[in-house]
Amino acid sequence: MTTDDAWTITNTHSDADSLAQHNSVFTISNGYLGMKGVLQEDRADCCPVTLINGVYDEIDQFGTLRASNQERRYLDPRHFDSAGKSPAVANLPNPLAVRVFVADCEIALSRGEIAGLSQSLDLKTGVYSYRVDYRDAAGRTTRIEMQRFATLRHAHRVFMRYSVTPLDHDAPIRILSGIDADVRSSTTRERQVRVCEARADSPHLCTLHARTLSREHDVHVAVQHACHGAPTATEPRGIVEHDAVYISHEFAIAQGDTATLERCVVLTCSEDGRHGVAVDLDAELDAGARQGFDAALAEQGAAWQDLWDRADVQIDGDEAAQRRLRFCLYHLLAVAPRHSDRLSVPVKLLTGEYYQGNTFWDCDLYIVPFYTFTFPELARTCLNFRHKGLTHGRAIARDLGYNGAKFAWQAGPYGEECLGRWYRFVHTNIHINADVVYSLMQYYRATGDEEFLREHGVDILVETARFYHSRVAVAVERSGLSLEDVAGPDEGHCESTNNFYTNYLAIRNLRSAADVVDQLDKQDADAFERVALRLKLQPDEPQRWRETADGLILLFDPRTKLYEQCEGFYQLPPAPDDLLTDRKDWFATVAPYQAMNQPDVLMALMLFRDDFDADLLRANWQYYKDKSMNFSSMSFAVNAITAAELGDLDEAYRNFTLTAGGDLDPQLTGRHDTHAGLHGTAMGGAWQAAVFGFGGVSLSERGLRMNPKLPAHWQRLRFNLILRGELVRFEIDAREVVLTAGNERGLDIPITIAGQEKVLQSGKTVRVRYRA
Ligand code: BGC
Repeated sequence: MTTDDAWTITNTHSDADSLAQHNSVFTISNGYLGMKGVLQEDRADCCPVTLINGVYDEIDQFGTLRASNQERRYLDPRHFDSAGKSPAVANLPNPLAVRVFVADCEIALSRGEIAGLSQSLDLKTGVYSYRVDYRDAAGRTTRIEMQRFATLRHAHRVFMRYSVTPLDHDAPIRILSGIDADVRSSTTRERQVRVCEARADSPHLCTLHARTLSREHDVHVAVQHACHGAPTATEPRGIVEHDAVYISHEFAIAQGDTATLERCVVLTCSEDGRHGVAVDLDAELDAGARQGFDAALAEQGAAWQDLWDRADVQIDGDEAAQRRLRFCLYHLLAVAPRHSDRLSVPVKLLTGEYYQGNTFWDCDLYIVPFYTFTFPELARTCLNFRHKGLTHGRAIARDLGYNGAKFAWQAGPYGEECLGRWYRFVHTNIHINADVVYSLMQYYRATGDEEFLREHGVDILVETARFYHSRVAVAVERSGLSLEDVAGPDEGHCESTNNFYTNYLAIRNLRSAADVVDQLDKQDADAFERVALRLKLQPDEPQRWRETADGLILLFDPRTKLYEQCEGFYQLPPAPDDLLTDRKDWFATVAPYQAMNQPDVLMALMLFRDDFDADLLRANWQYYKDKSMNFSSMSFAVNAITAAELGDLDEAYRNFTLTAGGDLDPQLTGRHDTHAGLHGTAMGGAWQAAVFGFGGVSLSERGLRMNPKLPAHWQRLRFNLILRGELVRFEIDAREVVLTAGNERGLDIPITIAGQEKVLQSGKTVRVRYRA
């Protein structure tokens, strides 16, 4: 992997592993759809991946587990017999299908010789390009050049420019260009769609209608072609096959000449109405084709410029860090559900089908915060997705025997649980509720969006509080309340009691619910009436939530200042040395030891770092940091932010590099799993490590605080945050912080910078010397 400058990601390696990794790296997306960066001429095992956010089918997930030798400790055998298929994002017909023939010999990268390859992603515009020089068995070299992008301003449109140049021969070139529905799930190799109709009605247009097998979502794909450069030898003609439709273009072409096809692709689906993005396929194709590649590209550049103007984070003095971070921001911006008000972000973004394409707690805690502070309307959408998910959440809670709602651990587009019941995580990972509430309250604090809180947020608060209230058990011998049979972020000590992370976040959840309800009661009688009616709120509920919060046990030792991760953790033997260095197996490995897959106590302390003093944070950091195997890429951001807070900048920088760079350079983490999709969580964590870690920004009910600590070689860090609707520019150099607020929204909030109390006001600049 080589990289050019801080706006370009490049790959020139054509070995199978590099190509598989870069298929994810070079995904194009616009939030509505995502297409992996597959080389279309790779005919081997390579499966093109085309996803539409929220278009699902099912796969036999349990079948893959049954066949694997994965540790069964956390699978519940009572549900094995009824283990049906699991909801999963569907791999849809490939609308970029191309087959190129030189004379009659098809270009198949896996069979011939790749004489040269260069793939690149322009982060400024979201355009993915590649150039391949292919030498066939007859010794002829043909150059292929491709450019494609998913338009930000028109959710359904994708453009591609495709050129073929015979470098050292005059053989006739034939390009079949169209739609191929012979695609399978990349995880289980199952078919997920059937073709209802495929047509090639004119020499330039082909269309295909497919339906997902079990959910029966309809997907319509249309492709309009335009030819440039070398003239076609014959009139293009349509070819309809069983599962594919193509337009065949034959070029009589001289050595060195270039034949170019431009195509406008439009995808629509039967979920569009639900997602608020329905269009007429023909009209959309017509508009896209009339616009054409170059005009669409110019529009794309302008659309991305708007995003970067606001969300870019600039690091002076460290180009590698700059590139890594921008790459993360690019994908978080690309995948944002900007076209809908009810979808969220899948954990693998739209860059892969791993984890069934589901949305996890990762999204609420790692990705939504980036949106909250840069494009709050996107955070609102993700929170609205959680609000809609309450319907399923209530059923899940009821099913488990509790009140209120429990969000799905792995949520599908309706908020439905996609993890089979045979996975104990469905009932043990209850911290998901409080994670969502954390994200909601941060959104509320940053935006002051009373309306969302009143109309939707309060429902989330009340139902999640009810769940915890009904889930606690009286711990007689400890004279308090326990949460039993839970797993914290570590996940290795599943079915534990009084996991600190879970209890602490549940306490905060219960108190926030009570506070918000009481505040509404005091401030807005009508709104309170509506909420009370809607949620059948009993007058004593807030008080009962407070009592539950007060009673929940936190395993704290004031002498050591340590929180015990869960009951019995200290009794476990220390982990053997090689456990922490060799990645052996997933979560089960750590279960018998004082070790964890990812930070657990430390994660809670990081989220609520304004609740704890530095001594306590340091004591827990020292105790827990080396006990974490950091198996999950979620770990690095927690480590980076905590280390920065404690002033350990080498450790903070090391972890920042891991969270920001893991997908570009697999050697950094040793994970080698980027081929299955990017680590969206780690990418959100990279932004947090920069802004909350080195920028030292934190927001809590105590207010806004900043305690910057830049790595020694960073000359300057710049970013923008949207606070109460106002854009505030943050500039930090080795000594000074300068904050400049826009002049549109009447912002007037206190901020503490390196212990100095200031006020951040619209139209004003705050300058603070934070280091001598
Ligand atoms: C982590 C989970 C996380 C999931 C999806 C796992 O590695 O342990 O906490 O939700 O990945 O990112």
